[in-house]
Amino acid sequence: MKKQQFAVIGLGRFGGALATELMDLGYEVLGIDRDEEVVNDMSELLTHAVVADATDEEVLRSLGIRNFDCGIVAIGNDIQMSILAAILLKDLGVKTVVAKAITTLHGRALEKIGVDRVIFPERDMGIRVAHQLVTPNLLDYIELSKDYSIVEMTVPEQLHGKTLAELNPRARFGCSIVALHKPNGVIVAPTALDHLQKGDIMVIIGANEKIDGFEAEVV
Ligand code: ADP
Repeated sequence: MKKQQFAVIGLGRFGGALATELMDLGYEVLGIDRDEEVVNDMSELLTHAVVADATDEEVLRSLGIRNFDCGIVAIGNDIQMSILAAILLKDLGVKTVVAKAITTLHGRALEKIGVDRVIFPERDMGIRVAHQLVTPNLLDYIELSKDYSIVEMTVPEQLHGKTLAELNPRARFGCSIVALHKPNGVIVAPTALDHLQKGDIMVIIGANEKIDGFEAEVV
């Protein structure tokens, strides 16, 4: 299967990190920034890096932008530029357009013009760090909806050696452990007989309030 190709517009802190990570993951990345210095710094790290104004339709056309599977508008601080670049990527036929928003209103504008996925890196990271600060064992979480999440937590000392039957999270807390990362691999859909060991990572799914109850009680 052909590897996806990405175009990253704006190589600031967010766009630069995103572009280099995609390269590390083995994908082809075109980076575009109007700042020559920024482009020079990134040129060795990306498949192509060009100095261009992403609101110039002709330039985007000449770069063959419509052939990219995914275009990411990583311009945040200049909302006008971000919206114009996103409109052009959509109009020029980039399959999937992702854009970074810095405010809720900016995000709404991006959604209105048909951006496929709007991300709020600062807001989301703030929320994530808050959760991690109050729950030291919490490694990560994904919001499935407003009310439901999947969270990753390390198994604390007090659960060491317990089986899932003994912990019984579904009956006691109303949430389920759907996977266990152990040093020698991942157990997907662990059974009642699987043991928890200190340091294993539990992947838990459930309503937020149920997961909160689980965290408060056992982690
Ligand atoms: P971050 O907070 O991730 O650093 P910024 O919004 O500060 O994000 O940086 C965005 C980058 O986008 C900057 O490097 C800037 O030069 C670039 N940029 C802004 N407007 C345009 C544009 N119209 N065309 C191309 N690049 C742009």
